[in-house]
Amino acid sequence: MKVLLIGSGGREHALAWKIAQSPLLEAFYAAPGNPGIAEHCELVPLDVDDHAAVLAFARDTAIDLVVVGPEAPLVAGLADVLRAEDIAVFGPSAAAAQLEGSKGFTKDICARFDIPTGAYQRFNNAPKAKAYVRDQGAPIVIKADGLAAGKGVTVAMTLDEALAAIDDCFEGAFGAAGAEVVVEAFLDGEEASFFCLCDGKSLLPLATAQDHKRVGDGDTGPNTGGMGAYSPAPVMTPEMVARTMSEIIEPTMRGMAEIGMPFSGVFFAGLMITDKGPELIEYNVRFGDPECQVLLMRMKSDLLPLLDACARGRLDTVSADWHDQPALTVVLASKGYPGAYEKNTPIHAIPQETSDAKVFHAGTATADGQLVATGGRVLNATAMAPSVAAAQKKAYEMADTVDWQNGFCRRDIGWRALERTPD
Ligand code: ATP
Repeated sequence: MKVLLIGSGGREHALAWKIAQSPLLEAFYAAPGNPGIAEHCELVPLDVDDHAAVLAFARDTAIDLVVVGPEAPLVAGLADVLRAEDIAVFGPSAAAAQLEGSKGFTKDICARFDIPTGAYQRFNNAPKAKAYVRDQGAPIVIKADGLAAGKGVTVAMTLDEALAAIDDCFEGAFGAAGAEVVVEAFLDGEEASFFCLCDGKSLLPLATAQDHKRVGDGDTGPNTGGMGAYSPAPVMTPEMVARTMSEIIEPTMRGMAEIGMPFSGVFFAGLMITDKGPELIEYNVRFGDPECQVLLMRMKSDLLPLLDACARGRLDTVSADWHDQPALTVVLASKGYPGAYEKNTPIHAIPQETSDAKVFHAGTATADGQLVATGGRVLNATAMAPSVAAAQKKAYEMADTVDWQNGFCRRDIGWRALERTPD
């Protein structure tokens, strides 16, 4: 099989590492990729926003499967352009990607198909949104409708905070993403992520994970893209997984098909496990970053036939095998992240991979033969072991071997799982 992978983050390095292990692979390309991804395939300098260029490359190279890593190209319709030319794609259509691209769209799907989620209203002007918030009281959650890189959500503990967040959205703090606002009831509980492949008519549940969004130890400081993750999430008991499938994932799949937008790709459900059970916070339509890194380390099966079956509507013909052991990943970030940080700082001494530990590259580049950091989140030290405590120890040993003066990481990734399963 000839495969083209789209993306350049830690998630795509993990996908590349796993796909490269497949005996089915004949040729493997990534665009634009990063130095870690380049260990596994040939990098192609394509502008992934230029859909015509991606299509031309896929056609000229006789690509059998395009795997789209990040959400932006999906929301922008890359999968539609490729599918229109009969090229198999792992990832949803632009219409179905609205599940991630528009929070209001997802809430309407939940309301229509009776999927448990916080009560909500959609607004396109500040006075009406404020009146609703005053009526509901705090705590309450204010969300810019569109993609805002994790910054468009305010969990307001006071009325003043909620009113200020509404002003921020309508005054353009999140650009077009804030032109509409979703006001949502505050859900109390423990968060977890659930990943499930869907080909429009069949589902293949994958695994659960939990991440750490805040930059500082003890889950303090500003939100980030994610400073670490582990899989499985202890809060996701077999009962919670079964309820998530029957109450959330299956009705979403059926609902999307019913409205003429069948979903193909990965459902990444952000859940709140409340005392009533699982409730949907959000959908993402691609693998999580850094959750993908821990998921794929735990996957025993060949990933490529799963992605291919998903893209071709044959998910009912495949199954996935998993290591029982937990995996954990620690994100090494540039000092200053998620604020301003220095770029092009040199990185040395990345440890060799072993059978159950690997450092994935996220925001790295090569300059004059030297590996340098170019992004906020730069490396993901990932390990699998018989316990969360052992996986954590191994991941931090890897992270601490890296010689990078400008890097930092949280020291407590996995604390919630360790509280539940100390050894
Ligand atoms: P963006 O669209 O800006 O990228 P996002 O997709 O990360 O943001 P959400 O996942 O909807 O946005 O929300 C971000 C975080 O806010 C959640 O991970 C959760 O911690 C918190 N949150 C969101 N909705 C609720 C809710 N109804 N109750 C409690 N907390 C919530």
